[in-house]
Amino acid sequence: MEWQYVHRTVSDAGKFFDGVEEAIASEFLPSLFGVEVDITCKYRKLAELPVRHAGLSLSNPTTNTKECYKSSTLYCSHLLSTLRGRVQYSPVDNLDCQSEVMPEYWSRIEAAHKVKVKSEVDQFPQDTQRTLKRAKTTGRWLSVMPSHVEGTILSSTEFRDALMLRYARVPSNLPTSCDGCGDSKKFDVKHALDCKKGGLVTARHDESRDGLRDLLAHVFSPSRIRCEPMINPAPIRANGTKTHVPSASSSSDFRNADCDDLDSRFLGGID
Ligand SMILES: [Zn+2]
Repeated sequence: MEWQYVHRTVSDAGKFFDGVEEAIASEFLPSLFGVEVDITCKYRKLAELPVRHAGLSLSNPTTNTKECYKSSTLYCSHLLSTLRGRVQYSPVDNLDCQSEVMPEYWSRIEAAHKVKVKSEVDQFPQDTQRTLKRAKTTGRWLSVMPSHVEGTILSSTEFRDALMLRYARVPSNLPTSCDGCGDSKKFDVKHALDCKKGGLVTARHDESRDGLRDLLAHVFSPSRIRCEPMINPAPIRANGTKTHVPSASSSSDFRNADCDDLDSRFLGGID
């Protein structure tokens, strides 16, 4: 972000960014989620964190300034000493200084983020906490470059639905009844993901299967990959015996990560 350049070079510049933070909290974030301000306000501090810590990397420009200035000062400490005439400039010393200082600095930042995400998540209800803890590993789609070739472009509806599900919110315009079993008493996200008669269980499986097939086709060749294993893959010789054809197959099991019977110890591995 361009304002971070100002934060890195001007000490205590956060007080000049109140208007920017106001616009992020009251206009940008609600538009991003597609909901009202009062829903997103309690997610603002969580959104400040990096994606790998369940956030959206939308840093607060009024409070982030000290960290930006400190990291920039540490990174450029050899250059600053040179400009002040204390030492002779040396490219090697400059690199050594950067490689010594920054790992320690970033490890402290990571530790601070872990503490912050825990304190923020603890403020939500128990059911929501379960989803938010998983959000540390369910945000890679937020960081990938949109590409038609790689199939990583989401529509605005897809983006907002994924965002709402990541933060345990109900997507907008959810149907009132299930088109699979016709249940209209309690149709929610959980029912949509669990219903054996609805199409989402099969759709999730097929989408993942097709993605895996596409990746394997790049490694081998498209003609060597099949969606389903052949019932009798071994061709029969003229004398009636079967030839040996090496093959491999995989099977995938898809579950709703928020279903009641899923053990919480598996949550860390779900993405
Ligand atoms: Zn149903």
